[in-house]
Amino acid sequence: MKLLSIAACLALATLAISCNNTPKATTEKPVDSAATMPIEEKYTANIVDNKKDPTCGMPVTAGISDTMHYNNKVLGFCASECKAEFAKNAAKNIASVEWK
Ligand SMILES: [Zn+2]
Repeated sequence: MKLLSIAACLALATLAISCNNTPKATTEKPVDSAATMPIEEKYTANIVDNKKDPTCGMPVTAGISDTMHYNNKVLGFCASECKAEFAKNAAKNIASVEWK
């Protein structure tokens, strides 16, 4: 009985894999209008405690579009993507921050 169910599972898995081989429709992403907008300078290097974006290494003087508070410090990031990346493992990433 056990062997039979394993065989059935394998058959199902094979079917699922072959289904994935069918050509997909266009994978073109819709244009993100926000991405084409110039970076709005809401923040300046003066208000943050780090020298560089700890995720990509860009100097905060080049522009900050998002900030994050951590342990009473203010971290500046060039983009919200960098902030999100940092936030995924903030406890570890905080060690690589270059403070002013
Ligand atoms: Zn960045």
